[in-house]
Amino acid sequence: MPRHQLVVIGAGPGGYVAAIKAAQLGLDVACVEKEQALGGTCLRVGCIPSKALLEASEKIHAAQHNQIIGAKIGQVELDLAALMAHKDKVVKANTGGVEYLFKKNKVTRYLGHGTILTPNKVRVEGPEGVQELETERILIATGSKPAPLKGVELDYEIVGTSDQAIAYPHVPEHLVVIGGGVIGLELGSVWNRLGAKVTVLEYLPHILGGMDGEVARAAEKIFRKQGLEIRTGVRVTAAYAKDGKGVVEYEGGEPLVADRVLLATGRIPNTDGLGLENVGLSTDERGRIPVNAHYQTAVPSIFAIGDVIAGPMLAHKAEEEGYAAVEYMVTGYGHVDYNSIPNVVYTHPEIASVGKSEEELKAAGVPYKKGSFPFSANGRARAMNDTDGFAKILAHAETDRILGVHIIGPRAGDLIAEAAVAMAFHASAEDLARASHAHPTLAEVLKEAALATWDKPLHI
Ligand SMILES: Cc1cc2nc3c(=O)[nH]c(=O)nc-3n(C[C@H](O)[C@H](O)[C@H](O)COP(=O)(O)OP(=O)(O)OC[C@H]3O[C@@H](n4cnc5c(N)ncnc54)[C@H](O)[C@@H]3O)c2cc1C
Repeated sequence: MPRHQLVVIGAGPGGYVAAIKAAQLGLDVACVEKEQALGGTCLRVGCIPSKALLEASEKIHAAQHNQIIGAKIGQVELDLAALMAHKDKVVKANTGGVEYLFKKNKVTRYLGHGTILTPNKVRVEGPEGVQELETERILIATGSKPAPLKGVELDYEIVGTSDQAIAYPHVPEHLVVIGGGVIGLELGSVWNRLGAKVTVLEYLPHILGGMDGEVARAAEKIFRKQGLEIRTGVRVTAAYAKDGKGVVEYEGGEPLVADRVLLATGRIPNTDGLGLENVGLSTDERGRIPVNAHYQTAVPSIFAIGDVIAGPMLAHKAEEEGYAAVEYMVTGYGHVDYNSIPNVVYTHPEIASVGKSEEELKAAGVPYKKGSFPFSANGRARAMNDTDGFAKILAHAETDRILGVHIIGPRAGDLIAEAAVAMAFHASAEDLARASHAHPTLAEVLKEAALATWDKPLHI
């Protein structure tokens, strides 16, 4: 029977990073993954393919609408097959990259479904049959899957999830998106740019629940201007395929009939067939595996990280946890700073945040001050003809320590990195304001927002 010091189940961003780091720290490590391609949800059907479609569709839309400054463009035709081929190539390059890294770091890969049999034994069932692995420790990194919604019958073609919406064979004339969260808005934007009429149905009174309210309201206004039909406060009661169309029923209105329906109401942890019951482990009320501060479950040799445990379902959160969990196993110390984990929505404009929202600070009774700065007053944003949005900094009213940063605007997803580092180093608004920022860059918006929070902005 093969023996390893660590067996990781799942090769998403949490699992594959943990496996590589464990190998770098000197462990004999194996990774069990049921899909042929490594990289998990993120690389195969999540972050990477959706960003390939977002980047390309933005350019196609700009060309089709003659929005490229200084160029007169004739008729621009969409080549959906070429766009999908580009996306598939990007996915392949990334999943292949993980395969290369496994080989380079001598991580043993097992193809098949992993089931925990005992605290030190994992069964792998794959195309090459069944085998059992003996191991000192097990790390569960089995991620998540789309959450079902009562009344919604998925046929995985007309009524489907993001797995289908990254690969529709034609541009739907009308796409109904159930859920105005990150995934729904990103993929809704893609198909809207490619020519679909897109209707987003959101149960809450506003989209992007959980985000800073001021930013979410600004986003809603901009998305509506872009042509997304956003209906909030709508409770969907049923959705199903009928006669080649998708029907969506909701309270208080006539059913919608569309070409495609995308269910995007969140994701749930994936523990299917994992064998938790074999070792006496159970999940919490939301299906997550409980762990302590060192990612250790109630069984000391079994650890868990990523989407399958509590916390935001984000690739980089899973990666940080994978790294910290194996550091803990080997060195006795590992840590993730949850307060400085950024969150990005890759629409246009992008939306990015780190730390607390105004609503959270108010609810916690924390005294705060805020300063903001619009992209319309930034030289680079004007040069790019991309001036929608603003950056907002929230700092402690007495100490000036930065408590939250929220940006809606061009390349907000890249700009938020500076704010995350500042927060990780417990910076004050004054620290950020006094740091030199290259001119002319979008990052100057953050410097000005910091100036506005600590003292006064200069350029407005
Ligand atoms: C459309 C979409 C877009 C997204 N965009 C972003 C984004 O831009 N940024 C971001 O941070 N996050 C994004 N996410 C979320 C991100 O993909 C997840 O947070 C991340 O993949 C979680 O990583 P993980 O390692 O915990 O699990 P996963 O990536 O889900 O990987 C788990 C792996 O375990 C395997 N597995 C499960 N059970 C078993 C078993 N019993 N045996 C063997 N293998 C098993 C699965 O096949 C899978 O490969 C997106 C998600 C979706 C769906």
